[in-house]
Amino acid sequence: MPTYVNMSACDGCGKCVDICPSDIMHIDKKMRRAYNIEPDYCWECYSCVKACPQHAIDMRGYADFCPLGHALTVLREPEKGQVSWKVQYRNGTVKQFTFPMRSTKEGSIKPPQEVVPPPSTEGLRSQLLSHEPEYLKVLSLPMPGSNVKTGGAQG
Ligand code: SF4
Ligand code: SF4
Repeated sequence: MPTYVNMSACDGCGKCVDICPSDIMHIDKKMRRAYNIEPDYCWECYSCVKACPQHAIDMRGYADFCPLGHALTVLREPEKGQVSWKVQYRNGTVKQFTFPMRSTKEGSIKPPQEVVPPPSTEGLRSQLLSHEPEYLKVLSLPMPGSNVKTGGAQG
């Protein structure tokens, strides 16, 4: 269900632009309001919906559970620690689903360079990714050309 912006509610703050992993939320330079430039590339992660302080972003529901004439809206209430999704069907039935917000406080995640030491020269030459295998919590990992099995790794 890709998103769309209700431009009359948007104030152009840009939070949706900053958080969108697909980089498809843009600010229209003339209108100074956000819009989804390519709904086909929407990951449907709803990070923008949950981040929008103006409740200006809604979703277009799929026909299988929201037939034509539906409305699907979100109510974000960070002060209560919850987010609610409301589905209104064309026959007037309304269903509301409320979930706890599990968002990490904005700005509280430390960048990797503040959490882990920089890789050694030997680590940079290795075919393993940064801090493998210890961050995967296994003793070792099989390397190309080797048949080494590890205690934790499967397959
Ligand atoms: S987060 Fe909401 S209010 Fe801010 S630019 Fe995006 S749609 Fe507009
Ligand atoms: S739902 Fe996710 S991918 Fe789609 S526009 Fe919003 S933040 Fe971007």
